[in-house]
Amino acid sequence: MMDQQAWEKAAALHGHVCPGIVVGSRASMLILELLGRPGQHIGASHYAVVENEVCGVDGVQVITGCTLGNDSLIIDNQGKFAFSWVDKNSGEGYRLLLKVPVWKSNEPLVLHEKVKFGTATPEEKQKFFAMRQERGQELLEMSDQELFQVDKIVRKIPGKPRLFPFVQCSRCGESFMEAYGQLVSGQQVCAACSRAEA
Ligand SMILES: [Zn+2]
Ligand SMILES: [Zn+2]
Repeated sequence: MMDQQAWEKAAALHGHVCPGIVVGSRASMLILELLGRPGQHIGASHYAVVENEVCGVDGVQVITGCTLGNDSLIIDNQGKFAFSWVDKNSGEGYRLLLKVPVWKSNEPLVLHEKVKFGTATPEEKQKFFAMRQERGQELLEMSDQELFQVDKIVRKIPGKPRLFPFVQCSRCGESFMEAYGQLVSGQQVCAACSRAEA
């Protein structure tokens, strides 16, 4: 089911309409429906597990409230357009896999690479933006059944600590969480300073 308001928020955050943001947003709307919680944020009760780290992840965060910052978003990048949400306690949930091609040809990908490397002509840039918008719009108009294969899954995500005591770097003097630095000759050294010394 299409939640127009949610879609507008996701598109605004993401900054453009493209296949990825459409798929991530539609998957997010569908999971909320499957869980009987349309229009709600489920970050407190569920983990989102995304199998890519591109555009659609923005939709997941805005619409389901499973964000990187609140530790409800797991990136398990396999380059797949698949999105799962599982209960934090039981591990029960659903995996939604895109059934249709993200792109209808490789042309937009070739153009995308040129845009990223800064070698695209203005015409190629325009063409890429147009193809991205057009494919996004096509996917937006498809039904949930056309878009996704839905599977019930059980996937337990072990919790992990993310906060550690802060210590001061003996080199630059900045504070950092102990777990992210190194001990060099008995002195705390932050990651950037250890890289610089390596
Ligand atoms: Zn995008
Ligand atoms: Zn330092």
